[in-house]
Parts: sequence; C-alpha cells; structure tokens
Amino acid sequence: MKIGRKFNQLHKSEYFHFIDNHKKYTDFNTLGMYRSICENEKLNLDDRIEIRDYANSTFGKTFNFYQLKDPKTNFDLTTLGMDLTQADARQLWDDIKVNQQKILAEKRIKHRNFGEYSKHNCGYANCPYNGLMIKQGSGLTENHMWFKEDKNQYVAKDKSARNKIQRKNIRHIIRDELDNE
Ligand SMILES: [Zn+2]
Repeated sequence: MKIGRKFNQLHKSEYFHFIDNHKKYTDFNTLGMYRSICENEKLNLDDRIEIRDYANSTFGKTFNFYQLKDPKTNFDLTTLGMDLTQADARQLWDDIKVNQQKILAEKRIKHRNFGEYSKHNCGYANCPYNGLMIKQGSGLTENHMWFKEDKNQYVAKDKSARNKIQRKNIRHIIRDELDNE
C-alpha cells in the first residue's frame, strides 16, 4: 500500500493515521514525515507540536539519531514554539554536539562508514555550529546565517583565509575523529 502523497500536503489527522499504520505503507519515509511537520502550511504551531510528540512516541529513537543524521531538522522540531535567546540556541547546539559523539560512539562497532560526515568549521570563531558533525550536502554548511549578530562581527575577517579553513575542514572526516579516540 502506498500513501502516494507528499507529507507536507497532509491534514493533521492523516499524520496520526499514517504514523499508526506506517508499516503498511511502503512509501512511508520517517525523515520526510518529520521534515514536513515544520513545512506543512496546513498545520499551526499547536498542531506541529502535537504531531511531533505523537511521532516521537513511535519513532523516538530515530528522532534522537537525527541529531547526527539531520541536526537542523532535529533542532527545528525540538525548539518548536520556544522563544530562544541566542544563548539558549547555542546551548542546544552544544547539547546536540555532545549527543552526536555519543551516537557515534554507540554506532562505531556496527557501522564503519562514517566518511560522509564532516565537522563544521566555517572559520567564524563564534559560529554556534563549530564542531557539529554534518552530513555532506545536507545544507547546514552553507545555510548557517541565522545568527546575524555573530556574522557581522566577523565581516572584516579575511575571506580567503576563511575559505582555506573551510576547504581544510571539509576533509576532516569522522574517520579521523574515531581513530584519534
Ligand atoms: Zn559556521
């Protein structure tokens, strides 16, 4: 059986149905479902929080893993409805970084292929994502201008030096991290 529709077009009640019956639908994609919770324009904030919590009651372990696999989705969903200060957001990103290392330590024995992850380091000393493990091509590397105040402090910094750091760190794959433990 197939859902045959995009999650970001579903109504609230349909989420509950598909989560309850996800095993029956061959095209049920858990990450796609989670991502749509923030994107779906049919949902208001209370709906999003309710669906997130409901989904977590079934997929809590998977959601926890998204701290590594898709940290932005995990962060966006975790912070739904929260009025975060910049310090709060930093703290949450730091928590995610710690949890990423825990997840990696647990997965280490089972899976060896972590090469697609790399540590974020854009060269901005104050960047809240520094040290965050990011899957290459997941977007966060490019898309991290949410902390505009931080950014402005570093505008004068030499751009070529930053790019150099970025190129260097893109090669700093998780493998190094694991080997050095
Ligand atoms: Zn950055």
